[in-house]
Amino acid sequence: AQQDHVHERIAFYNKSLEHNLLRRTALLEALRSALAVGSLSLALQPIVSADSQRIAGFEVLLRWKHNGENISPAEFIPLAEQSGLIVPVGYWVLEQACQILTVIPHATASLSVNVSVIQIQDPHFVTNVEQLLNKHNIAPWRLHLEVTETFFHQAQHGVKETISRLHLLGVKISIDDFGTGYSSLSVIQNLNIDYVKIDRAFVANIFEKGQSIVAAVMTIAHGLNFQVVAEGVETPEQAAQLAKLGVHFMQGYYFSKPVPVKQALALLPQQRQDSA
Ligand code: C2E
Ligand code: MG
Ligand code: MG
Ligand code: MG
Repeated sequence: AQQDHVHERIAFYNKSLEHNLLRRTALLEALRSALAVGSLSLALQPIVSADSQRIAGFEVLLRWKHNGENISPAEFIPLAEQSGLIVPVGYWVLEQACQILTVIPHATASLSVNVSVIQIQDPHFVTNVEQLLNKHNIAPWRLHLEVTETFFHQAQHGVKETISRLHLLGVKISIDDFGTGYSSLSVIQNLNIDYVKIDRAFVANIFEKGQSIVAAVMTIAHGLNFQVVAEGVETPEQAAQLAKLGVHFMQGYYFSKPVPVKQALALLPQQRQDSA
């Protein structure tokens, strides 16, 4: 009987593996045509300045609605990376972001675009970014590129050069999900970074160990001259504590979830009237 049980479990296991594989294959196929059929879209999430709580910019987050189902980036970004599709998809996101920057009724707001290691290794990446900025006549400092620490880890050759070429253009560089990767401290020591985004895991326990970690990052930020963004801020208590610790910017559900582009942009003129 026990033997049967084991077989059953193996059969079940194989079935779910097979199911996963089928789903991934089908999704990858659909993702290939997603750009053409227009099922990809962008959501924007406000990034607010810690002292004024005003919107300083937005993070651009990719959304995919496939057969009525919202597929999470956590599921489709890895597929896009493995297949190389992330390169055309990533250029599409950058082009959209530049277009949005031209219509933002607030000439200083920035957009932060996530770029994966695969995209940045494309030899044309820097020139393509430059061309996009020129084509849309965008002040380069309004475009922020968010890269994770994996990038610095996997792509050690040429990273420094790519980052300095992007800096020469005037584009800003953020390290995303800071503190969860491998080489955090050496990365910020060796590269000229503009922003560090503290992973939301540290914000979630900001009243415990997270507090010491954020305080330490702030000390480093002052010494090394970068600004700090806290991700995943969900409560007013977390926001107050982060502001007290001297974080420069905050982002999270407490301020706003990621929302469709139009809805996000509508938040800006209102803010302007307030300040007038
Ligand atoms: P990320 O860059 O760290 O983006 C932040 C993620 O945290 C987003 O998830 C956002 O919706 C979520 N988030 C924001 N505030 C809160 C909060 O208060 N609480 C919680 N629990 N979550 C919050 P999302 O949109 O599902 O994206 C997941 C990841 O997918 C992103 O993480 C990024 O690594 C990747 N991604 C999204 N769009 C793109 C893209 O255009 N290109 C690339 N290469 N990657 C992307
Ligand atoms: Mg990000
Ligand atoms: Mg992040
Ligand atoms: Mg994250």
